[in-house]
Order: sequence, then C-alpha cells, then structure tokens
Amino acid sequence: MPRQKSILIVYAGGTIGMRRSRRGYVPQAGFLEARMAAMPDLRSPDLPRYAIHELVPLLDSANMRPRDWLTIGRAIRDAYDEHDGFVVIHGTDTMAYTAAALSFMLDNLGKPVILTGSQIPLVEVRSDGRENLITSLLIAARYRLPEVCLYFGDRLLRGNRATKVSAAGFRAFASPNFPPLGRAGVEIEIDRELLRPMPSAPFRLRPVAHPHVADLRIFPGITAELLRQFLAPPLDGAVLHTYGVGNAPDDPELLAAIAAATARGVVLVNCTQCLKGRVDMEDYATGKALLEAGVISGYDMNPEAALTKLFYLLSRGLETAEVRRLMQQDLRGELSR
Ligand code: ASP
Repeated sequence: MPRQKSILIVYAGGTIGMRRSRRGYVPQAGFLEARMAAMPDLRSPDLPRYAIHELVPLLDSANMRPRDWLTIGRAIRDAYDEHDGFVVIHGTDTMAYTAAALSFMLDNLGKPVILTGSQIPLVEVRSDGRENLITSLLIAARYRLPEVCLYFGDRLLRGNRATKVSAAGFRAFASPNFPPLGRAGVEIEIDRELLRPMPSAPFRLRPVAHPHVADLRIFPGITAELLRQFLAPPLDGAVLHTYGVGNAPDDPELLAAIAAATARGVVLVNCTQCLKGRVDMEDYATGKALLEAGVISGYDMNPEAALTKLFYLLSRGLETAEVRRLMQQDLRGELSR
C-alpha cells in the first residue's frame, strides 16, 4: 500500500477559523483546530495525514505585513523535508499578496504550497471553508505541483497570478492573465502543461526585509506636488497603476517628478489598472513619456505580484540596474513577455 501522504497546515488566520464577537468576526487561538478535530470528514482515509502549525497571533489578513510572509515562509522551510505538501490557511483580503510573496521567497520549491480560506467561517452552516480546505488537502497530497497556488471556489490558480475580485462571492479570486492550473468538479483536473518545472537546485527560503516600497494609482487630476511627495526619499521602489496599456498624463511637471525619482535609483514599475491585459509603453505618446522618464514595464504582472516582487528583489542587496532587469524577467511564472 502506498505511504499515506503528510501535509502541514500552516494556519495564519482569516475568516475560515473566526468566531463571532461583539466587534464582528475575530480569529481565536485553538478554535479552528478544535473545530477541525470535530469534523468526521477530515478523518476520511481518502485524505492525507495532516499536522497543524498555528501562527501566533492569528491575523485578520488585513493586518498582514511582510514580516508575516516571512513567518509563514519559515514555518514551511523548517518542516520542508518532513511533509509532502503545505496548505496555508489565510484570510482572503490579502491572500493574493501573500501567495505572490511566497512564490518569490520559496526558491526552488519542489512541493505544493496551497493557500486557501473561506468567505464564511467554518462554524457557520453555509461555510465554503469545508470544500476549500478538503480539496486543498487532496490536491496538495496527490499532485506533483512545484509551485505556490491558491485554491478557492473550485479553481486552482497560480499564486502570483491571482487577485481577489469578489468581496462576498464564493469564487472570490480570478487569474485574469493566466489560465487556472486546475478545476475541481466531479473530478479534480490539473492542467499539467501549465505547471512550473521541477527545480534542479535545492530548496531555500529567500527572506524579505524592509525596503521602502509603495503603490500608487494614477487618477485624473493627479498633481506634480502629490507625486513629488509620494516619490520622496526614503522610497526605494513603487508600482504605478496606469491607464490601459500603461499610459499616464504626459504633463511635463509630472514627468519631471518621475524622472528625478528614477535618476535617484527609485525603481518604478508600470502596471495597468485594467484587470486584464498588459503594459506596452510604445503604443501611445503618453506611455512612451513614462518609458523615457525611466519607468520600467510590469508587462502582464498583476499589481500584487509586482509589489511583492519589489519587496523581494529590493531585500536582496542588488544593484538598481539588476533589480530593474529582474523586475522585467519572468522569475516564477508571474509574467509573460
Ligand atoms: N478579513 C478577512 C481576512 O482577510 C476576510 C476573509 O478571510 O475572507 O482575514
């Protein structure tokens, strides 16, 4: 008989394990584990063995910071050899950021890491958490998936391509610029052609530190004054959410503020505000002006991937030119050129 697979559940927080309080839903230590122990489904012989590593404190994911990504990464690194796969239970609000951040930090990953959670807590009768959790455990145990994924509402997505698109729907995530890696209907179907290759080098955790990274959505009426303040030191890098294929107002004062920042070594990455599509700064004069001011293309990266990639690369002590080069390269399947 094949050995029963073993999965580590890293429980970071989120609605799935929350209980009602007078101030609304809050996570509570030990509560999810007790709830799971009382679920007969989770003792089915069809499921892998699992152990739970609960983080302290459990977080509403609105409170997640880069150092919490590191805590999750360390929990996976420390148990990497003992388990066949990892399920990270996480709140939906910033799940796409954590998934993208982990995809960069877990270098040469050769085992599945699946983030999941729910819109309704597991204790409620209509919870979507049971299906999300059980299917994530099954996928993590059954498939050779050498990447960070997000499973939610019947779809398995590449973690650094996922974005939260619905505040209350059970299909809360989409992957607008990359097809789903799998679907869970009557059968679980994984599209093997889309998966990342198995790594040839040993797994390692690449930590993130505390570079000054930010995010700005361009809007009609944005002023040079606001932009100058946003781009002022100590900023190291930022994602600019531009219009359409990567356009912004080509007002000379705005462009001068941008050019002064890039000349100082601030890495500015152009991502589109559109949910779907890619940046091409050669299309319009208003895009070309950004290119000439030193802004680099984010191509079809989603803003979560671009932001966390900046955190990752700017934590590595690389020269600015190297950060700019790697930002425009596909490192973990987050970008197609
Ligand atoms: N605020 C919650 C969180 O992100 C929402 C959820 O889990 O669905 O932790």
